[in-house]
Amino acid sequence: MIVAIDGPAGAGKSTVARRLAERLGFRYLDTGAMYRALTWLAMYRGLALDQGDRLAELAEQHPVELSETGRVSIGGIDVTASIRESRVDRLVPVVARHPNVRAVMRRRQRELAEAGNAVVEGRDIGTVVAPRAEVKVYLVADRAERARRRMAERPGIGADALATDLRLRDESDAARMQPAPDAELIDTTGLEVEDVVARIEDLVRARQPA
Ligand code: C5P
Repeated sequence: MIVAIDGPAGAGKSTVARRLAERLGFRYLDTGAMYRALTWLAMYRGLALDQGDRLAELAEQHPVELSETGRVSIGGIDVTASIRESRVDRLVPVVARHPNVRAVMRRRQRELAEAGNAVVEGRDIGTVVAPRAEVKVYLVADRAERARRRMAERPGIGADALATDLRLRDESDAARMQPAPDAELIDTTGLEVEDVVARIEDLVRARQPA
C-alpha cells in the first residue's frame, strides 16, 4: 500500500509521515530530500541551475540514496545535514521546476515507492508520482504557523527572512502543489502531531483488508 502525503513547506508533512510510517511499520520516503540532495550536488559542483538537461544528467548519474535510518547521500557523500541549510531551501525550487529533472526523479521515486508498503511525502505524490496510491492526504496549515514551525527547525535564521523564503518557495512550488481531487485535506493548524497521525492511520486501516 502507498500512503501519499503532500502539502506545502511547514504543513507538518515530515514529522507526520515519519511517525505514521513508524506506527504502521511502512517504509518512509522523503521525495523533498531527493530534490534537495540533487540541488546540493549541483551547487557543490558549481553547475548552472538553469540548465535542465545538465541537471537531469546529473540526477541520472547520481541516484540519491536514502538509508533506513534516515541518512541521505548522493555521489557517495552523506548530505543529511547540508540539505537542510537555508541556501538549499532557497534554490531547490529552481532545480525542481525543470521537467526533465522531474522525469528522472519521478522514475526513481516510483521504483522506491512500489517496493512494498510505503508512506511517501512530497508535493506531487498523489497527483503525479503515485496517482493510484490507496490513501492520499494533503496537509495545510496557516502561514503564521508554518513560519513558526520552520523557525523551530532553523534557529539561526531571522523571522522575516524565513517568512520571505516560505512565500517565495510557495510561489515557485505552486504549480506542483495542487491537492489530488481524491485527497483528504487536513488543516494541521493547532493540531498535535499524534492527532494528525491518528486520523491518517484511520484512513489506512479503512483501506486495509480485515
Ligand atoms: O518537502 P521539502 O521542503 O523538503 O521539499 C523541498 C523542495 O523540493 C520543495 O520546495 C519543492 O521545490 C521540491 N519538491 C518537489 N516535488 C516533490 C518534493 C519536493 O518539487 N515531490
